[in-house]
Amino acid sequence: RAKAEGGGVHCAYEPQLHAEAEERRLLELALREALEKDELSVLYQPVVDADEGTIVGFEALVRWAHPQMGAVSPAKFIPVAEEARLIAPIGEWVLRTACHEAATWPDDVRVAVNVSAEQLAHPSFVTAVVSALAQSGLPAQRLELEVTESVFMRDDTGALAVLDQLQALGVHLSLDDFGTGYSSLGYLSRTRFDTIKIDRSFVIGASKNVQESKAIIRAVVTLAESLGMATTAEGVETQAELELVRTLGCHKVQGYYFGRPMAAADAAALFSAPLRVAG
Ligand code: C2E
Ligand code: MG
Ligand code: MG
Ligand code: MG
Repeated sequence: RAKAEGGGVHCAYEPQLHAEAEERRLLELALREALEKDELSVLYQPVVDADEGTIVGFEALVRWAHPQMGAVSPAKFIPVAEEARLIAPIGEWVLRTACHEAATWPDDVRVAVNVSAEQLAHPSFVTAVVSALAQSGLPAQRLELEVTESVFMRDDTGALAVLDQLQALGVHLSLDDFGTGYSSLGYLSRTRFDTIKIDRSFVIGASKNVQESKAIIRAVVTLAESLGMATTAEGVETQAELELVRTLGCHKVQGYYFGRPMAAADAAALFSAPLRVAG
């Protein structure tokens, strides 16, 4: 409407814009104190070998519990942290916490940590990874870093150089939420990702028998295999979805069907009673 009238933003939108800006400002203020007030935590979600049914890793997922606001979703506060230049300290804390925890797991189990574009572009990111590995004693091969296609939108030469440095350390690299961004396939030929994570939206589509979703999963698996990369299907919630993505050739699976993101102690307990895929 505002556009149609040709006069910039219509007044009627102002109160809402104002409320959103105000909410963001409050979130940012609260987030500034979250680390020192010990309000952040990390949960771990199992990643399972699709054929063996064994746990091959866990994805570390940050959580924020604010005393008044309650649980704030990372989908909501990570963008605020990026804009407020808080992502470096928060991301570094998640990385150190996850490496420290993973060092106590069996030595064939990896921990995957999400890295946002803003974080990857931070000049001290590689140093932070080296230091987290050294301090925890976790071998680089057992750390996986998940980035999304958005890292290439910002500054692709910088991102490619940092990914090269990380790979030289021996760290595994995953391309998260594949197929939901705007990147060109060219990036797949320039960075040898170890794993492509197929976004949950395709898994849901395929389970609803949307032919296009199945075709996309099949094509991504073929593409990944020909590039020497593995695939993980994200957001598998049912046995039927598991069977479907397994039939389509996905190598690893992750989702509520195998386990919700859980506290470190519960993750560790799974090693004494290993998780098995039914059937
Ligand atoms: P993501 O990396 O794609 O993580 C997967 C998200 O899907 C997680 O949401 C997870 O809890 C959820 N999920 C897993 N299995 C299922 C399922 O079967 N069904 C459904 N409906 N959802 C499932 P979460 O933890 O809310 O995280 C959302 C996003 O926030 C993540 O997406 C990631 O992009 C970002 N994020 C989370 N932790 C961090 C972090 O430590 N650093 C950074 N930079 N980003 C993070
Ligand atoms: Mg992820
Ligand atoms: Mg993902
Ligand atoms: Mg996703």
